This record gives sequence, structure tokens and C-alpha cells, in this order.
Amino acid sequence: MKTDELREKYLDFFQSKGCTRCPSDVLVPAWDPSVLFTPAGMNQFKDHFLGKVKLDFTKATTCQKCLRTGDIDNVGRTAFHHTFFEMLGNFSFGDYFKEEAIHWAWEFLTDKKWLGIPGERLSVTVYKDDDEAHGIWHNKIGLPDARIVRMDEDENFWPASAPSEGPDGVCGPCSEIYYQLEGGGEVEIWNLVFTQFNRIGDPVKGDPAGNLHPLPSKNIDTGMGLERTASVLQGVPTNFHIDSLFPIVEAAAEVCGVKYEYQSDNGRRLRRITDHARASVFTIHENVYPGAKDARYVIRRLIRRAVLDGYQMNLREPFLYKLTEAVAQSAKVPYPELSQTTARVAEAIQAEEKAFFDTIDGGMKRIEKLFTQMKSDSQVMVPGIEAADLQKTYGVPPELVQTLAAEQNFTFDWNGYGEAMDQHAKDSGAGQVVLFQTGPLETLKEALRETPFVGYEKTQSDAVVKGIITGESEKGDEGKLLSHVGRPSDTPLRLVLNQSPFYGESGGQVGDVGVIESDGFTFQVTDTQRHAALIVHHGTLVRGAIREGDEVTAKVDIDHRTALARAHSATHILHHALHNHVGRHAEQQGSKVEADRLRFDFTNPKAIPDPTLALIETDVLAMVNDSKEIRWDTVSLADAREAGAMMLFGEKYPDPCRMVSMGDFSRELCGGTHLTNTSQVEAFEVVVEESVSTGTRRIEALTGKRALEHRKQTQELLASVAKRIGCDPSQAEAAVVQLTTEVRALKKEVSAGKSAEHPNEFTVSKSESSTDTSDYQAVRGSVRAITRRLNVSISDVVERIDSLLADRKRLIEELKTATAGGQLSADDLIAGGETIGDTLVVVAETPGANPNIMRGWIDQIRKKSDGGSAVLLASVAGEKVVLVGGLSKSLVAQGLKAGDWVGAAASAVGGGGGGRPDMAQAGGKDPSKLPQALEQAKATMRKNLG
Ligand SMILES: [Zn+2]
Repeated sequence: MKTDELREKYLDFFQSKGCTRCPSDVLVPAWDPSVLFTPAGMNQFKDHFLGKVKLDFTKATTCQKCLRTGDIDNVGRTAFHHTFFEMLGNFSFGDYFKEEAIHWAWEFLTDKKWLGIPGERLSVTVYKDDDEAHGIWHNKIGLPDARIVRMDEDENFWPASAPSEGPDGVCGPCSEIYYQLEGGGEVEIWNLVFTQFNRIGDPVKGDPAGNLHPLPSKNIDTGMGLERTASVLQGVPTNFHIDSLFPIVEAAAEVCGVKYEYQSDNGRRLRRITDHARASVFTIHENVYPGAKDARYVIRRLIRRAVLDGYQMNLREPFLYKLTEAVAQSAKVPYPELSQTTARVAEAIQAEEKAFFDTIDGGMKRIEKLFTQMKSDSQVMVPGIEAADLQKTYGVPPELVQTLAAEQNFTFDWNGYGEAMDQHAKDSGAGQVVLFQTGPLETLKEALRETPFVGYEKTQSDAVVKGIITGESEKGDEGKLLSHVGRPSDTPLRLVLNQSPFYGESGGQVGDVGVIESDGFTFQVTDTQRHAALIVHHGTLVRGAIREGDEVTAKVDIDHRTALARAHSATHILHHALHNHVGRHAEQQGSKVEADRLRFDFTNPKAIPDPTLALIETDVLAMVNDSKEIRWDTVSLADAREAGAMMLFGEKYPDPCRMVSMGDFSRELCGGTHLTNTSQVEAFEVVVEESVSTGTRRIEALTGKRALEHRKQTQELLASVAKRIGCDPSQAEAAVVQLTTEVRALKKEVSAGKSAEHPNEFTVSKSESSTDTSDYQAVRGSVRAITRRLNVSISDVVERIDSLLADRKRLIEELKTATAGGQLSADDLIAGGETIGDTLVVVAETPGANPNIMRGWIDQIRKKSDGGSAVLLASVAGEKVVLVGGLSKSLVAQGLKAGDWVGAAASAVGGGGGGRPDMAQAGGKDPSKLPQALEQAKATMRKNLG
């Protein structure tokens, strides 16, 4: 039976029993902070089990994507372990119980219409005290006693050992179903959990079950491993040989250029690569990229582990990403959406691989050296400090070091590793602060439970002071609860009210500001935060005295609130425009909404080109100008979904939820405060588009007053650039190009020793391209082109222009000085030389000439003289003397060296230097001795040639 067929049959079967078929939850449930990855089918029904949510159904069945890392070291080594796998499940929330759960499992497994497994191949376990389950299996199903094993609480209870060890809460016995393999041995394929107890307190002595109280509403939670059951039905040796996984193994063998052999080291590696490729593709598909923390770190580890396997098969270039297509292909029936993101996913995997391959050589050499050293020292434990260093220097995760160590039978010092990393964190100032949940806010939360928010419809309301707390520590729960504060001061305080129109920072929108006041005091609110369901007003007492129980008026600063609303509503419009112009994958990854400023992070592998960015902006402005109504309604989650409301991957929303709609084009579930019409956004301007991390881009934009100010500043900037350069703003961009080009050319001339004349003032030559300064888009385009040309941020443009103009002036001065020296010519110098034998000797001071110019003359003189030549020139710049000397080839052939000649002269002016035999340069510090030095140089050459 094919895997896809098995999955369908299972879901079909339980649907036929009245279970509602629900889709798999996401793999990384952002809504559930208690897990990094969905570990089992029941995770999405946690609140159902606890009776926290209204139930639309009481029976469900799913096939859930799961990821577990507990057995990560067994992946590839054993037949049945995975990190990523699918789990088939059926669930009852106070509906059917043990009797049906057991009967249905048996029917599905053995009935010819379904799996048709011969009954004698199956055996079961039950919890030792669960006579009820034993009775059903034995008396009703007819399983002989020999095939029903009673097990202890550590094996057949959920959570394991709960009766004697806890935790308190919902728990229950399980019954596992085993399949006898062809060649002997058995595998567990299905686990039925009967959650029927509430555990309270410690057990009575000698009676571990004495603390278990029957639940009024009993639940069923079962899980059947899809891959494992498929492998049993297909009679293959491991999960990796089933029809849906083996094509990936084969693709991996091809990509790695090795043959797949079941028993070999490479066989194990290819199976591990297959597993890790699946885990990475499914996770990155959900926009969770490899990184340094939490789920992202797990994905980094999996990719790096796979890379290490590849490395051991002699691969030195990224390869894992090439399996993305094979993974998507293998899952195309249940998860066709994977095929839509293969390019993005592959790119992310490749980037992570490349980063690791860049350092892996160094890391592996270090590890090998370490292991060799350990062996020769008879050590067996890898020191934690080494692992910490490997991680910091080479990016080798400690778990990989541990795995490699285990292959050598070494153990790993996790304590030492932890200490080394703590020390590192301390050294780099990133130590963690432990927060205890016993502070003043937690105390208030116990008493008040929540602060009702009344600020959607109004910005002012009556309220009562419920808590006064010292300190302002952002989100921490520190400080003291006070009953009153007697006089105003600068000391930061926090107030909690019985209700509030102030929006506490959440969902990316920053908190409101304003005042809370009564006849007796004024409290200036500078920020509003949330502590769970409490709204916490941060600020200072600026007038009077405040007392707990005071009746007050809370007034939100309307201008600030409106500026926030402009930015928030614009964020929704931008989100929509991104979908139009970049694609549906451009999903929100994070956002920050401030007064007339917004930051929006979204999924996209590449930078957005300028023309597309312009289209996005135009689109947003069009929707603003369309004056569409903005409204919000409280609707059921199902209705919101029906209406096509944008929901974020992995986010769990309350039901009912708040849906914000704009015209017909945008619906998002959102708790923020908004405008009532899109036209109130007034203005919108994108100011930044940049990368945040692999696969995530950021747009920063301005709205309202800020956008208009930015426009004005942009226009002023072009004007002030033009003014400084001395041209019309329409010519500014071309002038900046001309200025930078000219400065570059001047630098070249100076270093080449040229001596050209340049006008003192920079004059702009008429350019073809000019900016239409009445068109703002054109103005902004010019400003952007100028900042790019100058390679500075917009705020540094003017300064950069000034420094370019100063550079230009200085370079022209230098050239002028050189030109002064250049009133001499090679011919003048030859005329002033003397001829000794057939050698021309020129020793002269050339005022103002720089070394480049001097070398140029020496070359010319050597060319112009028929016989040999020896030239030594000198100039004085400030307190320094520069000497350059050159000899013709014929003299060098006689054994003379320019370096010696120039060096001797330089020592006469208190310096030294050297160079090649035919050309050398030296410096000196004593210009007053230059005449003697030159005389000495002449004398030396006369002697040499005489
Ligand atoms: Zn929103």
C-alpha cells in the first residue's frame, strides 16, 4: 500500500466514524510558546482538551506534520527514527472513549476493507491497572492473554510515570499496538491514550494511583506513525525505503555522487541527509529560516549535520539544497503548496550550507587534532571550553561535536560547555536576566486579571487608579507597589487603571502617550505597555499627589494616536500592495508601527528593484486616494477565514476575533487602532528597502506629516547640493557625477606627476540629462542617485559634497606647485649637466617637483642622452627633502647602483632610502644641508666615472 493511500484510508475511516477531518497544523506553531515544533497530532487541540474553547465538533481526525529532536542521534542509524514525520491521529473531546477507540483501531488494522492485517500479527500492551482496556482487548476483540502485556506507569502512562511522579493535571493510561515483523521482532505502530484522570497532590503511600481522580469528561488522543506503518505494510527494511521517501534517498545518493548501500556508512549518511532535508524544507517553507535561536537553531543544526555528512563523503560545495525539489515532489499529494516555494527554500538552504562550508575545514581540522590529542592523553571527555570555542570560531554546533565525539567513544562535557558559553555571554555583555514572576505587576494581575481596553471607539475615559508602581523597566516585573505618591518628581512611575483608552504596545504598534489626571494630580504618560492582559501606563507625576483608588480621567494624545493610526492603516495597505507586486509569499514577518513611521518585515529572498518599489508606492497612494472606508468587526474565526482575512502562518487567533477591513481589498485580523478612511493616511513614502536576515526584507515608510516633511527635505537637499556646487537643481545630479569624476581624475594626475592647469572654481558643463524639479519622483530619483554616487547616507550628502569640493581645491593647489617646478624641463636640466667621458651627469635641485615629476624627467633625460647618464634630482617640501636618482643601463652594467648614490646623498641631509639599481628614492630631514649633499653626489659620480 502506497503511503498516500494509507493516509487517505486512515482519514476516510475515521470520517466514516463521525470524526471531523481537520488539516495539519503548521510545523512551527508561533501561537504556542511551549513548543518549538508541533510534536504530535494533539498539539493543535490542546485548548479543546482543556475545555478552553467552544467546540464545533467533539471528534476529530488529522494527519499532522511533526518534528521532534529527542532522537536526533538515532536518525539514519535505526530503521524507524526521524526528526520530521507525519502522525495520523483520532481525537475525542468528551465524546467516544476506550471501547470505541480500541474497536475502531482493531477494525481499521484488520478489516479487509481497510488495512487487512492478519490479527495474529498484532499484539498490544496496556497499563498494569487498566483492567477495562485489558477486558476490551481480551473479551471483546478476542486477543489471547499471551498477546496482551501489562506494563508499568513508565511505559504505559501519559505523561510517563505521572501517577507517582506527576505532574498534576490531566493524564491517563495508554494501550500500544505492536506489529510482528516478518523476520521476528516487533514494532509499535499505534498508541492509544485514554485521558481519564486529573492528578492532584502526592500519592498515598504505597498506592501510586491513589491521587488520580476520574475526569467528568474523558478524552481520546491516539497517534499512529505514518512512515512506520507504511514501511510495515510495504515490507521494507526501514522507513526510508517506503515509496514516498526512497526517491529522496536516491536523489541524495546522486547529488552526493555515491552509491546507496543500506549497510554502509554512506547508507546511514544518505538516510540522515534525507531526513534533515525533509525537516528543513518543510520548516523553511513556513518562513522559519536557519538562525541562532529556538526553532531556527534546530534547523541550522539539522542543515549543518547534513553538511557534515556530505563533507565526510568528500563534498566541498553546497549540495543539500538540490534535494528541495525531490522533497516537494515526494509530498506533492498531501502538501502541494511545497512546490510553490522550492526556489526560495533552496536558496535559504544553500546560503546556510555555504556559510558552514566556508568554515568547516578549519573546524574539522581542529576537531581531528583535538581527538588525536585526547587519545594520546587517554582523555575520554571532550572539554566544554573546546566545544564553545569551536562554535564561536567555526560555527560548529556543540551537538555536532558531541555526535562526532560519540563516534570515537568520547563523552561530552555539557556542564563545561554551559559555563564557557555563560562566561562568553558575560564577557560580551549579553548575560541573561532571570525574571521571577512574583513582582508587583504579577500581584496586580492576580487581583485584577485584566485591564479592559476601551480605546477603539474613544480616546478619553473615566477610570480608577488600581496600582502605582515604581520603576520603568520596560517589560520586567520589578519595582514596588505604592499606596500613594505625595509630590511630583522626575522618578519614573507606572500606573494601572481599572479600564483604559490607552493602547499598550502590541502587535508591532507602539503604546499611546497622553495624560491621566484628576483635580488633585496630573500624570504624564510617555509610553504604554502590556503585562499579559494588564495595560501599564509609564510616565511621571508632574503635578499634585496621587493615591490608589483616585478617580481620574485618562486622555490619550489624539495627534499621536492619529499618527499611529495613519502608519498602521498604511501598513495593511502596504501588505496588500506587496502581495500584488512581489507575490503572495511576501508574508508579514514582523512590523513596527510608530507615529507616522512604519517598518514592515516580510518574506522575500531578494532585494526589491527600484521600479517595483515605485510601483508599490504608487499602488499604496492610489488606494489612499481612493478614499476607501476602514472598519472593524468582531467575527468568528470561521467567518474571518471565509472572508479571506489575512492570517499569519503559525499564529493562533482568538475566536471570535477582530477583523479590520479596508474597502474590498484588505482584510486582516488585527488588534491595532486604525483610521476610518484610507484617505486619512494623507501621504506615504518608502524611505528604506533593505535586508534583515536571510529570506527576509524590510521596508521602512513614512505617512502623514512625516512623509510630507521628508518630501520637503528631499527637495531642499537637491537645492542645497546645487547651491554648494553652483548649478541649477535640475543639473545637480549631473554635476555631482562631473565633480566626482573630476576629483578622481585630479588624483590620478597628481600621482602621475602631471602638471596641468585647471580653473580654480568648479564649473558645471551643460549636461544632456536634467531633472524636472517640478516632478517630485524625479527629484527623489536624483537624490537617491546622488547618495548612491557618493556612497553615503542621505544625511551625509552635503558634508560629502563639501569635502569633495575641498579635495578638488587641494588637488589643484598641488598640481599648481608641481607646475611651478615644471617650469623647468628635461632640456633645461640637460643643459645644466656636465659630461664626464661620454656620460651625462645631472645633479640639480628642482623646486616644487614631486617624486613622480622627478622620475618623469629622469626617464626623459636617459632617453635624450646618447651615451650613459646619471641623474640625481632633489626638492624641498616643508621640512623634508626628497631625492630621486637614476642611472642608465650602461652604468648599472658597470656595477653602479642608484640606491647607493641616492642613499649617500640622503645621509648628508639626515635621512636615508633606497630602491632599484637604476632608480631610487630617498628622503632627508635637513633641507639646510641640501647644497652640500648635491655637491657630494656630483663628486661621488665624478669619482665613479673617472
Ligand atoms: Zn494590523
